[in-house]
Amino acid sequence: SSSESARLMHIEHKHGAHNYAPMPVVLTKGRKCEVWDVEGKRYLDFLSAYSAVNQGHSHPRIAAAAIKQMEQLSLTSRAFHNDKLGPYEKYITNLLGYDKVLPMNSGVEASETAVKLARRWAYDVKGVPNDMARVVFAEGNFWGRSIAAISSSTDPESYGGYGPHVPGFDIVPFDNLDALEEAVSDPNCAAFHVEPIQGEAGVVLPSNGYLKRAKEICEKYNVLLIADEVQTGLGRTGKLLCSQHSDVRPDVVVLGKALSGGYYPVSAVLADDEVMLTIKPGQHGSTYGGNPLACAVATAALEALVEEGMLENAMVMGERLREGLRRVLPSDSVQEVRGVGLLNAIVMFPDARATAYEACKAAMKRGLLTKPTGRLDNVIRLAPPLVITAEEVDEAVAIFGDAFANL
Ligand code: PLP
Repeated sequence: SSSESARLMHIEHKHGAHNYAPMPVVLTKGRKCEVWDVEGKRYLDFLSAYSAVNQGHSHPRIAAAAIKQMEQLSLTSRAFHNDKLGPYEKYITNLLGYDKVLPMNSGVEASETAVKLARRWAYDVKGVPNDMARVVFAEGNFWGRSIAAISSSTDPESYGGYGPHVPGFDIVPFDNLDALEEAVSDPNCAAFHVEPIQGEAGVVLPSNGYLKRAKEICEKYNVLLIADEVQTGLGRTGKLLCSQHSDVRPDVVVLGKALSGGYYPVSAVLADDEVMLTIKPGQHGSTYGGNPLACAVATAALEALVEEGMLENAMVMGERLREGLRRVLPSDSVQEVRGVGLLNAIVMFPDARATAYEACKAAMKRGLLTKPTGRLDNVIRLAPPLVITAEEVDEAVAIFGDAFANL
């Protein structure tokens, strides 16, 4: 890397915590699907900040809403009402079909809120004895890095060395309905928390009908289904919620990331009154949650998604991407190209000549950015902004074809 990138990476390394290992590129500008590094080299962004930038970089409508609100009123805390919160709450609950929304900031906070809601509902409505509630998670889940989130994690990198852990969590294998039924039949079970497609685990798709049957099993035992749609939601898979592909209406939906289109941390939990109203004033919240700036940004981000054809584009471009990649990728190193909409992955054989990291480096050299995911370093996630064009998809296919041919 040339001197400016090297200089900036060195400063970060020297003064910042070493809790990440970024690809060696220093970005300074983004427009739609494209980003540029400090040397002026252009890349296609095939990560979209882990699906936060679904609407594309520097979306003018979201930027304008943010700037306008910043000049008007940014933060009041929830000690007072603000004139942006109510209209935003009305808009998002109508859009997604729930009675109520609870606004937070990051994805992990929203998922934790959902877990708290489930516990509270279990005590107040289901009648679980105090402090006995259990919440079931799927093996390979990822919902963040807080103490509660790592307490449900099955990844030793995530939970190892950070104990003691939060009690009351159970793990079942993902995509295994018998194990799920056994776990949720416990009368103290409050909820099953699941990603409709496991993102960080490596874009892992369950069998057809899994989520639908999981919801039926939860209903049978009076257990809430919490869908963590932080990564899969908001158009990423071609629908507002990935659960909609399975015709499932979760009891609780967790959203984050693209809820702000990358402008600002905004997350949300959606549920109906029976669940949401178990939390009483003063029992949960956040200084920044529901602030006017967040509400203005989130409203613009949602409007952009639904009014600018991004969901439809995600379906069409996702299909084009998978077809193109299946055509050009070598079958001796690539096991599978999988995904829904624009949440996709190239799965390499774990014993392939090169690792997924090396393949990502080769793509980076050719002007495309993404990162490996999954535990075996054999999965490359492909999640470009939903505004990607056919020409950009074809460019990406050509880049991967060339990169894999030269690994
Ligand atoms: N839930 C899922 C499914 C995620 O993929 C992530 C982040 O990658 C989170 C929750 C946590 O979101 P955040 O990083 O904003 O806390």
